[in-house]
Amino acid sequence: MTVGLDPDTLDMTINAISEFAARELPESVLIELDEADEFPEDIVRRMCSEDLGVQLLFIPEELNGMGGSAFDIYRVCEHLAGIDVGVATAVLATFLGSDPVTVGGTPEQKKRWIGRIADEGLLMAYGATEPQAGSDLAALKTTAVPIERDGELVGYTITGAKQWISNGGVADLYSILALAPGGPTWFVLERDTEGFSHGKHEDKHGIRLSNTAALFLDDVEVDVDQLVGGVEGQGLVQAQLVFGYTRLMVAAFGLGAGWAALDRAVPYSVERIQGGAPLSEKQGYTHKLIVPHAVRLEAARACIEETATCLDAEEGALTTEGAIAKYLATEAGNDAADAAIQALGGYGYTHEYLVEKIKRDVRITTIYEGTSEIMEMTVSRDRWQEHLKTRGEYYHDAARTLEALHSARPGIGADTAALANHALAAVLEACRVGRLTRNQHVLLRLGSLIAQAEGAAALARRADRAAAGALPAKSKQRFDAAGLAAASRANAKDVALTIATEGLRLVIGAGDPAVTDPAAIATSIGLAGISAAQAGLIADLDAVADHLYGRA
Ligand SMILES: Cc1cc2nc3c(=O)[nH]c(=O)nc-3n(C[C@H](O)[C@H](O)[C@H](O)COP(=O)(O)OP(=O)(O)OC[C@H]3O[C@@H](n4cnc5c(N)ncnc54)[C@H](O)[C@@H]3O)c2cc1C
Repeated sequence: MTVGLDPDTLDMTINAISEFAARELPESVLIELDEADEFPEDIVRRMCSEDLGVQLLFIPEELNGMGGSAFDIYRVCEHLAGIDVGVATAVLATFLGSDPVTVGGTPEQKKRWIGRIADEGLLMAYGATEPQAGSDLAALKTTAVPIERDGELVGYTITGAKQWISNGGVADLYSILALAPGGPTWFVLERDTEGFSHGKHEDKHGIRLSNTAALFLDDVEVDVDQLVGGVEGQGLVQAQLVFGYTRLMVAAFGLGAGWAALDRAVPYSVERIQGGAPLSEKQGYTHKLIVPHAVRLEAARACIEETATCLDAEEGALTTEGAIAKYLATEAGNDAADAAIQALGGYGYTHEYLVEKIKRDVRITTIYEGTSEIMEMTVSRDRWQEHLKTRGEYYHDAARTLEALHSARPGIGADTAALANHALAAVLEACRVGRLTRNQHVLLRLGSLIAQAEGAAALARRADRAAAGALPAKSKQRFDAAGLAAASRANAKDVALTIATEGLRLVIGAGDPAVTDPAAIATSIGLAGISAAQAGLIADLDAVADHLYGRA
């Protein structure tokens, strides 16, 4: 059974967005708005109204929406970000803002606010971050003091400030996280509420087509029915509940922007003749500036699609998987966009060719909805618990599953991804024995290695599904099965070597020299086997390049 939109409706939605963007946001307009630092309010409002109705995707059918699934939302977010990450952010902000209501609101609140977003296309903003509370939201200072009349709770007085709020200066509705006596709590405010104001449109490095502003709450009175869910203290739980979803959306932004940059670099390199031949025929160019980025983006896509599928199957909140997807996709997107500037040389450094705009825009994805460092910490802490609970077998088990996959279908990189997972298990165990995660640096670097290992496994599984003709019907397919297999092999080689060498460095670097035996650690990690598994690397990169350039 299809969850969310059927594949044809999803395609139609994506095509409608493309047509709208071609009409309203051609390249010349994007460049102008970026240079003028202007939020195209009219265009975004029309996107979220009868003209296009993008907001309906995020809204359940019973509230007059289209009831898009996590998979649909990923596909649309990737597409939107490929057009402009700022505009995508404006759309995301409404979704983020309404999230606390979607997960925690009473039926009346859902009808009152979500129903209006569906019917009237209201823009919303999500007010969590504060000047002193960013990554550490629990440090929030905005307060909600109860108002009682005749001994009955009738409302709250909210006082404080919010920082860096997308749609902050333009939204119709705002969700605001404030500290009530029972703990952090979400409230929904209308824009013209007395005492509520916003700061100037922030002058930003990128996503200049997105409005970002501070919010000020000066004794703002709200009725008790504006408290989301009617119970104080649920705010952080409600925020947590949707992280799997929202981080997946930002992951899709990283993916969309990264590919948008490569989609400019690839044709450019076919046309650009240097040294007597097109750049696309030069390995020193493609294998540095194009291929590795395409490979990393597709590893991230594999994680995104698996996480979306699990979310749609209601297999839990998937916060760790969402964090892995966000981390891999946004870091890969950022690096791909940077490489695309280099790939276009001097032209890449100008506004006209747009890759430098994409680079500035995609940069935000490693910062908002949880920074990359917070993702590393989340992933590391969560999987560390799994390592302990399974007495060190968690990643050895993952590796054994990959070995079985390799036996069933050789040539998709599952064997090397297995080596990476065995190596990771050994690194984690050495860290446990030496109590090395007391060093925060080690803990966070482990988060990165874990994400990469899981990405390699996910890409091998995706290559297997592609070979079996069993990718989800709504999957985005940039490579055929042979291309995906080559990408998976190249990625697994890279990830295995990174885990082995980085892991070795961390264990030796943080360990007690008196008891640390580098040779024994290298053996336990399987460094020799991982080095041997690099055989065929250049052929794999050649194969991915041939698929990217249509030469396969
Ligand atoms: C353009 C833009 C739009 C935004 N939109 C919204 C929005 O709509 N709604 C909203 O609520 N917020 C929004 N934000 C805020 C965003 O989510 C925060 O900026 C982000 O969570 C980081 O918080 P911070 O800026 O306070 O940085 P900090 O938390 O101060 O972090 C600074 C640096 O320190 C690192 N760091 C933080 N804690 C630790 C730690 N414990 N250990 C190691 N390193 C650490 C971080 O990774 C980062 O590199 C937006 C931000 C921007 C720039």
